Amino acid sequence: MKKVFVSLFLVMLALGIKAQINVESESQKRETNDLGIGFAGAYLVNENVWAPGIHLCYGKSLGEKQRFSLGLGTELIIGDHSHASVALSLGYSLTQSLSIGYGPGVEFHLDNMEENNAIFVQHIEIIYEFDLDIIKIGPMIEYGFNSEDQHLMVGIHAGIGF
Ligand SMILES: [Zn+2]
Repeated sequence: MKKVFVSLFLVMLALGIKAQINVESESQKRETNDLGIGFAGAYLVNENVWAPGIHLCYGKSLGEKQRFSLGLGTELIIGDHSHASVALSLGYSLTQSLSIGYGPGVEFHLDNMEENNAIFVQHIEIIYEFDLDIIKIGPMIEYGFNSEDQHLMVGIHAGIGF
C-alpha cells in the first residue's frame, strides 16, 4: 500500500516539475488568501484500516512572487479512534498548480478527551489544483506522523482564493 502512495506522490511531483518548466515565464496573478477543504480516505498504518478524513485549511501567500504561504490547517479522521489535529501550515507553490506543505501541530484523540492526550504531530502534503475559474480543485496526498502512529491520506482538495 505504501508503494502506491509513494508512486502517486512521485508522479504528481514529476508532473509539477514539468509544469513548472512550461509556465516558469508566465506571471499569472496569485490570490493572497486561500481557503480550502479536502475530503479524503485516511489509511491508519498501525491499525491497518481506512477511515474517512476531512481537512480544512487557510493560507496567506507571502513574498514578492507569493510562492510561500503561511496558515492554519485542521484535520479530522473519523473512526474507532477518531482524532483531530490543528497545525501550522507552511506552503510552497512549485507551480501555479502544484504546492507542497509542511504542518507541525497538535493532535487529540477524541474518544479520550477527559485526559490530556495532546500529542505533537507533523504533516507533509502535496496538492495539485486545476484552476476552474473561482475554485481550484484537484488531488491531495498527505502523510501525517507522530510518535505513536502515522497515516496516509488521499483525496480531493478544493480551494477558493480571495
Ligand atoms: Zn487544504
